[in-house]
Amino acid sequence: AHERYRNRNPLSLAQHQKAAKVMPGGNTRTVLFSDPFPITLVCSQGCQVTSIDGDTYIDYLGEFTAGLYGHSDPVIRQAVVDALDSGWVRGGHIPQEETLASLICSRFPSVEMVRFTNSGTEANLYAISTACAVTGRSKVMVFEGGYHGGVLMFGATPSPIVAPYEFVRAPYNDWEGTEALLRANADDLACVLIEPMQGSAGCIVAEPAFLQAIRDWTTANDVVLIFDEVMTSRLSGGGLQQLHGITPDMTTLGKYIGGGFSFGAFGGRQDLMQIYDPLQPGYVAHAGTFNNNVFTMSAGAAGLSQVYTQEAATALNQRGDVLRTRLNRIAQNAPFPMQFTGIGSLMNVHMTSEPVRSIRDLTHSNAVLRDLFYFELLEQNIWPTRRGMLNLSLPMGDTEFDALARAVQRFVDQYGRLFEGELNARK
Ligand code: PMP
Repeated sequence: AHERYRNRNPLSLAQHQKAAKVMPGGNTRTVLFSDPFPITLVCSQGCQVTSIDGDTYIDYLGEFTAGLYGHSDPVIRQAVVDALDSGWVRGGHIPQEETLASLICSRFPSVEMVRFTNSGTEANLYAISTACAVTGRSKVMVFEGGYHGGVLMFGATPSPIVAPYEFVRAPYNDWEGTEALLRANADDLACVLIEPMQGSAGCIVAEPAFLQAIRDWTTANDVVLIFDEVMTSRLSGGGLQQLHGITPDMTTLGKYIGGGFSFGAFGGRQDLMQIYDPLQPGYVAHAGTFNNNVFTMSAGAAGLSQVYTQEAATALNQRGDVLRTRLNRIAQNAPFPMQFTGIGSLMNVHMTSEPVRSIRDLTHSNAVLRDLFYFELLEQNIWPTRRGMLNLSLPMGDTEFDALARAVQRFVDQYGRLFEGELNARK
């Protein structure tokens, strides 16, 4: 597979070699690095991306969920053109800032007030800091397999990039294990930070009963519950909190809500967010040159009000559910273990047939097969994430869904034969 990849992408290889001279690994986002070298993209339109080597792919990477609108939505484009015409780097309040804030507060049940940042990472940093400031406590509970941003590594293995907080890691979807850690740390806990579906870990869905148990415990013990909905906010008009009817104290947002531009936000109950009001005694400062940048505010406001309406969200996620069911039917007939997890418009392939309730269930997932899946999809002109995440975008339709289903079927046929051959040889 590597050899065919090299032969197909000579210009990407040359570009990577140039880039590697000035950026370690030739890139500035580890997640986009791909061994033996990443493909360079030169343009994108609708739900397609085109490589420097001249190949066009259906974009199922979808900028790791930020690409929900696709690449050339006319409403968002117009908002950006208007922003261009009215001038940017403004250094003052802009009306679109209030429009976007109002839209977010009206959509996400937990968000009474909101503030903007430049990334989801920053949003989480501020949400945790808010909880620490309000409770006077300093510890954070996070979950095994959770991801909350580049400088917020709550990893099992030590990393020189560490979360600047004391933390405890609980087992996902395991209430008994989580409750024991909650009790043991109750006196020190400022907040519990959880993705209501773990995105980076592979679209691992939280059981609503597990989330509800955490909600009940944190309410009873005066610990701030933060839902990291940076990825999951698109799974209904008002995120997974709306879908499940479970309301956290604070929520962090990011990705598509900026209309495709750098974005993050943290929000929640008014009494918590109030600490950022400069008219309050002892208020807390929250700064950021580009927090209210004209492009993000304009594109985001146009997108939420006119494009990704509640109805559009429901429709897209229903299509995602239909597609995932279809892919799972193909997977069930494969001679090797394979399944697609996820909710609505976000899904992830796993090479295991066991239920995936936590990152621990992926220990025996076949990593070689998953890599072959990646290369096979690329050969079929599908642009997937290397870790097997596949994301829908609004411009996609039956043509794109059929193409993905065909590519997955081809992968199963191609490698199923090898797999069966190997199994027979072992007999
Ligand atoms: N939280 C979650 C759940 C995420 O998936 C991500 C990004 N993948 C982040 C936070 C960080 O967002 P950003 O990359 O915008 O800093």
